[in-house]
Amino acid sequence: MPHDHHDHDDPHALLPPDPALRVRALETLLARKGLIEPAALDEIIDTYQNRIGPRNGAQVVARAWSDPAFRAALLQDATPVVADLGFFGRQGEHVVAVENTPEVHNMVVCTLCSCYPWPLLGIPPAWYKSDAYRSRAVREPRKVLADFGVSLPEEIAVRVWDSTAEVRYLVIPRRPEGTEGMSVEDLAALVTRDSMIGTGLARAPTA
Ligand code: FE
Repeated sequence: MPHDHHDHDDPHALLPPDPALRVRALETLLARKGLIEPAALDEIIDTYQNRIGPRNGAQVVARAWSDPAFRAALLQDATPVVADLGFFGRQGEHVVAVENTPEVHNMVVCTLCSCYPWPLLGIPPAWYKSDAYRSRAVREPRKVLADFGVSLPEEIAVRVWDSTAEVRYLVIPRRPEGTEGMSVEDLAALVTRDSMIGTGLARAPTA
């Protein structure tokens, strides 16, 4: 094994083995040297995890479920509709919304790399960028769905959309039953990241 010998002069040996701890240690070193501003770093992380994260897409989906005019405009041309809500920018230039129906289930992949609607869904999960997902999503989408715990009746067709640098897709999952009269905010809480990639379904409301 190439990592068996331990050289105690190696500066890497001073870093803890756990990735999170290593990140913390590097952050401390860089901050001490005045190379980064910890508050700015926290701001960037918060932005990607919470603000740019999948909560943005969830708001769009919940609104589409609640407002027929918004839904129609979104399906016709999503880019200006989501831009109006402030969701635009890097990796979100041209957005296409595809809606799940009783006939069709949509699923999104980027077979070439990892194109993803960042302003709506945040940073893509590791599995989305994996070779396995990228090849299998197209070849055997139902098996991939099963791996994610989603089994659809045979009569529902699975349609796979291949993202590109020009087009990013947002899946509008089906609105769960028993959600009549729920507020947009409460509905958004049922919309998971995976349901907007098409590898999951929206959550059922808790009774
Ligand atoms: Fe890509």
